[in-house]
Amino acid sequence: MNDDTLKRESKNFIEQAIESDLESGRFQNVNTRFPPEPNGYLHIGHAKSICLNFGLAKANGGSCNLRFDDTNPVKEDTEYVEAIMEDIQWLGFEWDSLHYASDYFDQLYSWAEKLIESGDAYVCDLSAEEMREYRGTLTQAGRNSPFRDRTPEENLDLFRRMRAGEFSDGSKSLRAKIDMASPNINLRDPVMYRILRAHHHRTGDTWCIYPTYDWTHGQSDSIENISFSICTLEFENHRPLYDWFCQKLNIHHPRQIEFAKLKLSSLLVGKRFMLKMVKEGYVDGWDDPRMPTLRGYRRRGYTPESIRNFCLDVGVAKFNSTIDIIRLENSVRDHLNKIASRRMVVLNPVKLTITNWPEGHVEINDAINNPEDKEAGRREVPFSGNLLIDRDDFKEEAPRKFFRLKKGGSVRLRAGYIVDCHDVVKDESGEITEILCTYDPNSRSGSDTSGRKVKGTIHWVSAQHAEEIEVRLYDRLFTSEDPGSTEDGKTYLDYLNPNSLKTVKAFAEPAIKEHSIGEQLQYERVGYFVVDPDTTSEKLVMNRIVSLRDTWGKMEAKGKTN
Ligand code: ATP
Ligand code: MG
Repeated sequence: MNDDTLKRESKNFIEQAIESDLESGRFQNVNTRFPPEPNGYLHIGHAKSICLNFGLAKANGGSCNLRFDDTNPVKEDTEYVEAIMEDIQWLGFEWDSLHYASDYFDQLYSWAEKLIESGDAYVCDLSAEEMREYRGTLTQAGRNSPFRDRTPEENLDLFRRMRAGEFSDGSKSLRAKIDMASPNINLRDPVMYRILRAHHHRTGDTWCIYPTYDWTHGQSDSIENISFSICTLEFENHRPLYDWFCQKLNIHHPRQIEFAKLKLSSLLVGKRFMLKMVKEGYVDGWDDPRMPTLRGYRRRGYTPESIRNFCLDVGVAKFNSTIDIIRLENSVRDHLNKIASRRMVVLNPVKLTITNWPEGHVEINDAINNPEDKEAGRREVPFSGNLLIDRDDFKEEAPRKFFRLKKGGSVRLRAGYIVDCHDVVKDESGEITEILCTYDPNSRSGSDTSGRKVKGTIHWVSAQHAEEIEVRLYDRLFTSEDPGSTEDGKTYLDYLNPNSLKTVKAFAEPAIKEHSIGEQLQYERVGYFVVDPDTTSEKLVMNRIVSLRDTWGKMEAKGKTN
């Protein structure tokens, strides 16, 4: 597992950069880290970053740390820390060591004093608003702060008093003294510390000043002896600052490399969006099977392998683009096809009665669990004269290419017999309530001597043996491929799919009861399903993971059914 990067022939741009740095001797090891901020749950985009960081370390015999980037106490919580660790392990990775940026607060503080002493940082009294105004714009240089020329002694005194709590929140900050005219706004005297009286989930009330992301990230990488600090494109403009701090402090200097964030069609990720969906009840919690969170996917029945394979398959890019969600779904299908046992389940039942079946007779038929996996064994399927089939598999009058059952037509019942339909029973409204067939006793699957060829095979269950189960039919959360689009003043709430969850009562063959929570199955001819944690000893609840590729539905859509 996870020798993923080794399997490919050509190297991507990150692998090339690593190779060249190892060759030149700039670094001896490939040490990476995954640095989540503990302010939300991990989503599919994070999976990409996890696979990349852990994968590169593994492929090169290096190490990968998990580091919580916990410098923003207001939004962070231990609840998220624990969930993040659980999700990384579920995805199949184990970190070499666990760190918190907050563990480095003392070291960062003393490094800040060092920069003050060397004249590279100063205490500034501008308010946030004034600072914005002084910063200038993309086309206009900034102006120097009136506090920029304070002496190191004065700065040191003020900084220590900031830490001691003498000043109110937001009234002062510590800034790096770089260049207010730099074309890169990140270099226009960026803030290193802000005053903020907030309780931190790990350091409690020890600090009333907190370091910024820029002042924390590179130095944390350096302390952990990271060689390659891989991050997403929005930090490209921060790289000169990352480098500046390492150079000024004269410490181990990791290499930051940026790649494009993973973006998928029909999907939104991002903490703000996800929080709203959960808090306002559009979904049923962080692990709702429609959520793009890793715990949502787990509950939906996606396997860690299929997510890892997908991440490997899409690779890394230097430019933003959108990946079709179908690629993720196909990766799930490919893996489940190999591991999921087949079961017959009827989602939308109609009675099928075999009029020449011996009254009360039950036959135990035998079916293989998974044609893709010989080890998966076989199961027993009871067959009787009273069956249920799916309504969609019958038409009283059907087009020529409808290879299911029609009046006057024949079909094979999987792991059963060929049946011939001679009549139907309807209620007053004209709806078919029962399909009447005869069976061909010589056509039993596995010992067929009838010599007949029929085009279609359908699934069924024996009515008296069927287990009644609850099935949750999940679909995409959005009807648009680009739910983030704000065209015509719309928001993603306008694109919510009202049919993203439909719950039905379904009928399954008895073997369904053997399965435990989290186990994936293929309902033959229908799709992949997983046993949901809401299952009790009385009631089995299953979620649709993904449908099979539906050939008839596609033909219908294209008008090619006659
Ligand atoms: P979000 O706001 O979407 O939850 P974030 O970037 O704020 O994402 P962090 O906790 O800061 O989340 O991210 C941890 C790591 O995961 C970072 O290195 C970040 O670049 C990476 N990451 C986040 N989103 C994506 C994505 N869509 N594709 C690839 N990597 C991502
Ligand atoms: Mg973030």
